[in-house]
Amino acid sequence: MLNYSIDADGIATVEFDYPDKSQNILNAKSLGAYAETMQKALADPAVKGIVIASAKKDFIAGGDLAELGAATDAAAFHAAISGTHKLMRAIELGGKPVAAALNGSALGGGMEIALGCHYRVAADNPKARFGFPEVTLGLLPGAGGTQRVPRLVGMMAAAPLLMEGKRIKVAEAQKIGLIHAVAAVGEERKAARAWVADALAAGTKPLQPWDSKGFKIPGGGPNTPGGMQMLMAANAMLREKTYDNYPAPRHILSCVYEGLSTNLDTGLAIEARYFTNLVMSPVSKNMIRSLFFGMNEANKLASRPAGVPQQKYTKIGMLGAGMMGAGIAMSTATAGIDIVLLDTTQEAADKGKDYARKQWTKQAQRGRMTADAMEVLLARIHPTADYADLKGCELVIEAVFEKREIKADVTKKTEAVIAADAIFASNTSTLPITGLAEASVRPANFIGLHFFSPAEKMPLVEIIVGKATSDATLARSMDYVRAIGKTPIVVNDSRGFYTSRVFGTYVSEGMALLEEGVPPALIDKAGLIAGMPVGPLALADEVSIELVHKIAQQTRADLGSAYVERAADRVAAKMVATLGRLGRKSGAGFYDYPVGGQKHLWPGLAEQFPQKLPAGTQSAGAGDAAILTLDEIVERLIMVQSVETVRCLEEKVLRAPIDADVGAILGWGYPPFRGGPIGWLHTLGPAQAVAALDRLAEQHGPRFTAPKLLRNMATKGERFYPA
Ligand code: NAD
Repeated sequence: MLNYSIDADGIATVEFDYPDKSQNILNAKSLGAYAETMQKALADPAVKGIVIASAKKDFIAGGDLAELGAATDAAAFHAAISGTHKLMRAIELGGKPVAAALNGSALGGGMEIALGCHYRVAADNPKARFGFPEVTLGLLPGAGGTQRVPRLVGMMAAAPLLMEGKRIKVAEAQKIGLIHAVAAVGEERKAARAWVADALAAGTKPLQPWDSKGFKIPGGGPNTPGGMQMLMAANAMLREKTYDNYPAPRHILSCVYEGLSTNLDTGLAIEARYFTNLVMSPVSKNMIRSLFFGMNEANKLASRPAGVPQQKYTKIGMLGAGMMGAGIAMSTATAGIDIVLLDTTQEAADKGKDYARKQWTKQAQRGRMTADAMEVLLARIHPTADYADLKGCELVIEAVFEKREIKADVTKKTEAVIAADAIFASNTSTLPITGLAEASVRPANFIGLHFFSPAEKMPLVEIIVGKATSDATLARSMDYVRAIGKTPIVVNDSRGFYTSRVFGTYVSEGMALLEEGVPPALIDKAGLIAGMPVGPLALADEVSIELVHKIAQQTRADLGSAYVERAADRVAAKMVATLGRLGRKSGAGFYDYPVGGQKHLWPGLAEQFPQKLPAGTQSAGAGDAAILTLDEIVERLIMVQSVETVRCLEEKVLRAPIDADVGAILGWGYPPFRGGPIGWLHTLGPAQAVAALDRLAEQHGPRFTAPKLLRNMATKGERFYPA
């Protein structure tokens, strides 16, 4: 765990060396060992000074998220973190100079250990990053970070580090004063030791700035005019951005304000309480589960079928050089893979490549890419109208028009050229894969690879397994998704698959609310307050109301008498067929999009969907039914997604709850603080979730009916995830 040695001059070296891990992490075990070793060193009269170092390539990667995610005993946790604070104060005030030698990255608790030393020297390591990523997982730097960082660098410079989890490089860390010095790589321990030796020679008691006489917070504390102004602005900005859904940044601000208004010891006591509160909160549990463990498992391809050799890709085919095809081509070329970009004419194919050139040129202009690097990427994209060019492709993806006949045609033409074991994938967003595979002579090699728009940026790929898709095809397709740096989730075939189906319920619920007479401004604001990135009506405009209308018509045609008309179908029909308002692309949808101006809600909506005002206020002419409260609207917009997700689990469209949560967050920006549509039900608990759905179903209809799966879980006291 820790290596300990004392040299001839009485300078001890405490070296973190976590067994059987590539990185040092902080948990009860390693912190316990650190406490024991440091107490021994401080008490030993033979030890004059101490150097803290690491035996790994980085210093310390941070706290043990498995341990934090599982912590449920608030009193025990508070006692443990208070113990760490006490230890760090004993080191600071122990009278022996202590220096940290940072050979590589020091993040989270690792940086806090370093901040608890009198001196920090970092190796000039270009890969090293310093910072506090805690806030991105619903936590705060709870080993003194919220107190020591602003006392060291000032509140202004501390804000992006603490509130946004920004990671900085060696030079910036030195510039703002987070570290004292930089040494050549491999010389950092010598430099740390030299500082300790000098301090011993000088004979003065080593002290941290905040323990020294006359200490002042750089740039002023929270109760100076500048500090007050900064905190007020930070508070307002935070609420504007998060609608107060995330307790972590709010608690960090409180720690800074309250803690810096007093001395360090009281500040640490304040921090320990806020930290304990966050560790126990469902928000951090949700974020750690979905954003950390769920995402890591997906990226490690945990659900990849076993026994299939890994596929290396050198040449991919892309059918359709439209919006999606061009984006997928960019992602593929960026991964170092050649891509044949085919469209109906050479001109159309060239247009796809031009899109890539335009996007990359923008990046080059912003200094994110050199002109040479751009040319290398562009050289990998081969636009063509000739199917013969697809020869040798290990995988061909189609993103042509959403029409069965066209997709069948390009499938046949492609299969005539590619090798027998090559994979054919469809990027369809709505057409079931099993049906599309009927056009294929080798349906076992046919699969769905559903990208999101803009494909060059969006991190998720929903992989759809058709009835005939083989395990080998699935495994090899997952290899491609990883090769281009995206995160896959695997789902079984069904109408709308998982993402479009559940995401669609959010949009539809917004449209149902509109038909009920809820003011559109309130609907879209409620979506944002619920934590969604865009309100449902604005989103309908983005994906186009016309598309909602088309899908409704297609579903009606496919299902026949089994089709049940929804409010959203009526609203879409009215907007598109009657009013000709197709969405953003036509400049007119629920919003108006004046050329050169700001979009705003279409004033005509009030007349088309008369608003119902609360009882007692003047009637708008459509009855005086009481308006829904904001909480009721938020609940509907969230629960409608959760209930549909449970149906996907029940119908085995989804294979595991965590796929639902990772897919929702990455696919359509579902709010991470809720964990995901399943994570949210887990947070409520199945019994409370069923009670809420029963109430909603009674008021608003069977789309809210609790699925049997959930009802059974509630009865048996089961949960989706460990409690
Ligand atoms: P698009 O209209 O921008 O591009 C389609 C391209 O396919 C056009 O360039 C067209 O010329 C080409 N094409 C048409 N018929 C062809 C043929 N026979 N051979 C070769 N090329 C042909 O459409 P898009 O938005 O890129 O969507 C393409 C596919 O991706 C659709 O199946 C769509 O459902 C799906 N998809 C779209 C999105 C989205 O947000 N736009 C998201 C996920 C999936």
